[in-house]
Amino acid sequence: MKKENNINHYIDLHAHLDGCITVGIAKKLAALQKITLPSAADEELLSILSVPDTCEDLNDFLKCFDLPLSLLQTEESLEEAVYLVLSEMERDGVIYAELRFAPQLHTQKGMPQETAIQAALRGLKKSPIPGNLILCCMRGESNQKENMETLELARKYLIEDGGVVAIDLAGAEAIFPTENYEEFFAKAREYKVPFTIHAGEAGDAEDVKTAIQMGAARLGHGVRIAGNEEVIRLVKDSGVFLEMCPTSNRQTKAVTDMSGYPLKDFLERGLKVTINTDDPAIERTTLSGEFRYMQTLLGLTEDQKQQILFNSIDAAFTTDKRKKELHQQLLF
Ligand SMILES: [Zn+2]
Repeated sequence: MKKENNINHYIDLHAHLDGCITVGIAKKLAALQKITLPSAADEELLSILSVPDTCEDLNDFLKCFDLPLSLLQTEESLEEAVYLVLSEMERDGVIYAELRFAPQLHTQKGMPQETAIQAALRGLKKSPIPGNLILCCMRGESNQKENMETLELARKYLIEDGGVVAIDLAGAEAIFPTENYEEFFAKAREYKVPFTIHAGEAGDAEDVKTAIQMGAARLGHGVRIAGNEEVIRLVKDSGVFLEMCPTSNRQTKAVTDMSGYPLKDFLERGLKVTINTDDPAIERTTLSGEFRYMQTLLGLTEDQKQQILFNSIDAAFTTDKRKKELHQQLLF
């Protein structure tokens, strides 16, 4: 019997706060802080805040974070941004979201990391949908102290639902390989702070292997394991979840030929894939848009979409009670 109930509820597990600042949100944040934006025209702001569909250059993509980050340097703006972004997600049909941000990138005006976290938590409390925060640590050369502070704060604020639930490692994977962070994640394990790691995005399958060996519960992207049977098997056997982000992968050139995008293949081989946005405002997409994209590109069926969303529920850093509720919401 053919199913008629098309999916219209979604779960986003991989969205960066500073990549979710749309023109509308940027204007609100600027007004709140009496900051003059580089342009008053929406079209021009859109071209500063996002890349067109034809984006060919990673630098163009990365440049888009400058303005949003400059608007997210005060408590008020962070609180408001978390609230506004989650509200926008709700309008897209998202019923649960894990929003991530790097507290150390919000200290440009002297705001301590802990104050940034507290502000984001206040924004989360006002959210119309349930959600949680993931604190990003950043790959880099001279920020070990900042990363350690983020980990200590994650330990301090860690909660099972409704707050800080995990940490992440983001940044230039190809320059600072995952293996450099072995000690760091050993500490996270000691502290019992769950973590996801960006791996197999700009780096290769080896990074994915390392991240799994370090105990990552989930991996950001993981798309570059395609073609490496050994690591594909490891991903499958370990049960690690892949937070895949199709438009992001196309625009940053993590994947060069989208016609061979491995999401459906991974799914059919039993890998636990999920679909997420990454930086929806920069990519000019939404989560429902990503599901439509995968349906058009790969012919994902409604059953497959449902399976992917069930994977998202299983992967979520939240309580069993919340997961049960999300299951119910997805089915009805
Ligand atoms: Zn990401």
